[in-house]
Order: sequence, then structure tokens, then C-alpha cells
Amino acid sequence: MTGSRRFLVFHTAFIGDLVLMLPVTQALRAAYPDAWIGVVAIPAAGSLLAGHPSIDDVIVYDKKGSDRGAGGFLRLVSRIRSLHAHVAIVPHRSVRSALAVWFAGIPRRIGFTTSAGAPLFTDRVAYLPAAHEVDRDLALLTPLGVDPHDVRRPYFPPSPADAAVVDRVAGLTGGMFTGAPLIALAPGSVWFTKRWPARHFVSLALGLGAAGCRVVLVGGPEDRTMCDQIAAACGDASVTNLAGALTLRQSAELLRRCRLVVTNDSAPLHIAGAVGTTTFAVFGATVPAFGFGPLGPFDRTFGVEGLSCRPCAIHGGTRCPIGTFDCMERLAPDEILQAALDLVQEHREER
Ligand code: SF4
Repeated sequence: MTGSRRFLVFHTAFIGDLVLMLPVTQALRAAYPDAWIGVVAIPAAGSLLAGHPSIDDVIVYDKKGSDRGAGGFLRLVSRIRSLHAHVAIVPHRSVRSALAVWFAGIPRRIGFTTSAGAPLFTDRVAYLPAAHEVDRDLALLTPLGVDPHDVRRPYFPPSPADAAVVDRVAGLTGGMFTGAPLIALAPGSVWFTKRWPARHFVSLALGLGAAGCRVVLVGGPEDRTMCDQIAAACGDASVTNLAGALTLRQSAELLRRCRLVVTNDSAPLHIAGAVGTTTFAVFGATVPAFGFGPLGPFDRTFGVEGLSCRPCAIHGGTRCPIGTFDCMERLAPDEILQAALDLVQEHREER
């Protein structure tokens, strides 16, 4: 293996998908320590990945904003061409992704057989519907002979700069790291049918607070209002809302310091996994068998079993198709609260 190899991973997907792709760049870095590894990503994910030890450059493609349309696509192609990559690895299955690396003249292009642009790839890899997304993406390294077995989990290293910000914010909010078990709740999701109802998060937060835990609410700016309402409903000083107050990387640093993260099937699930924090994931319209469940040894998933309508959408939806939303409404907080308290208690006994 030579140090002159140049790899480009093209994955303009949601943030969670980008995190689950990280084992690909980690495995490439392990196999080719001196290679150049670039990633094409959406703006939000770009800032999360910049500076990762397995990534040399993040090429931001704002396909829904400033790079929208044919002009933006051609600018992207020109930028990619200038990178002189030898190999493109394309987990994203849109025809646009395949076209971009083909137009850019990258000689070897590896993607899935199920990609809309599969005929444009030089190497086509079977997409395994029953596998975890991490393993599906890692399979794209098979044509290169890269063995990924020891880098199956995404990894975010600590960042002193992000740690300093989290320290400062924690200081401002008062006593966040005072010794009480810190538990993060992440109630947001792009999709309505992936969101556990806010009243369930309120019940969980109240139960955790009553047991002596500190609760922090995390999410993006779009989650701020909902988290404000959850914090207000708790009416308790042990609940702090930091949704929208931190960047993605700072949020990752905060999650690193938590004993537990309770999250929907959304990006915080995967970010928590990448910083090694135990994760309880709530699944509604989707199920872990789709390949996006948590990977940690103590992680757990929760969902209502036995619903004939479930799962109803591979990515979630904007409304419940049958109007009951039983998959989330009937998922009461009691079991999750008890499991969280058991985890905290075990941790206390370990010390
Ligand atoms: S159809 Fe069933 S699984 Fe889908 S959102 Fe409604 S209750 Fe949930």
C-alpha cells in the first residue's frame, strides 16, 4: 500500500448517515496511513467532520442552498476534479452522486448495486438490507481489499476547543457537572413519526430528576422551542435546555460527558455512539432492523411490539398514516426510566 493514494467518499446524506459512514474513513486511514482522504458532505455534516483524524478535507456541497441546480453541480464536479482522487467511494445512492464522481473523471468508482447511478460505477457492491448501515458502508471497501473488522464503530476524538466551550456553558448553567449523574435527552428528529411525544420526555425527565440525576436537553436550533416547552413543563432546576446553544461538535463533547443519552432514531443516537456514551434509542415508525440501531455493548432500544402497522416508513414520515400514532403514544416512559435508573445505579456500584 502506498502513501500516494487519494480517496474521495461521496455521501451527501443526513448527519446520522455521515456519522455511520465514519468507519469507512477510519478503515481507510488504518490501511493507508499516508493517503489523502476527502469527504463530500452537506454543510451541517461538514462542520461535524472537519478535523476528524481519518479525514483530510471536507468538500461541502450545499445541494439545497447555494449549490442548488446545474450550476452548483458543475462547480462541485470542477472542485472534485481538482482533487485528483484515484478512488471514489459512494455510499449515497442518488444518481447525482454517481454522476458527480463520473463527470469528475475519478478512475475507480465504488458504489452499491442498488444505487440509481450503479451503471456509472467501476465496482458494484451488493447492498445488504438486513445488515447494519455501518456494515453496509464498510462493504464498499471490499473491492479494495481493506479489512475493516476492528473499526466497526464510528469514533469522535475529544477536542480541547469544544471541551472548553462545554466547560464554559456548563459553568454558566450552574452545576451541570457537579457529580450528579448527567443524562441527555434528545427529543428532536427531522421526521414527526420518529419523535417520541414531548410529554413522555417530560415524564422521563421528572423521574430522573426525582432520582437525583441532572438532565440536559440537546438538539439543534430547530428543536429549541420544543425543548423550551419540555423544560418549562418540568419546572425543575435539574433540567437544562441546551438545544441550539452548541454546535454539533460541542454537542458531541457534551454527550461524551453524559452517563446516558435517551434519543429518538435520529442523529444524536449515532453521535452518542461515536463518543462512547451508552444510548437508549426510542423507535416508532421505524425499527432497528432497518440497520440504524445503536452499536454499544450496553445500548438498548425501545419500541411498541405487535403493531400490525409497524414499521410504516423506512425513514419516518411527517404524519402517522393511520392517525393513531400508537407506536409512540403507547410507548410509556416507565420502562425507559427504570432501565436508566438501573444503569445509573450499576455505575455507582462500580465506583
Ligand atoms: S402507522 Fe403505525 S408505525 Fe406508522 S406512525 Fe402510525 S402508529 Fe406508527
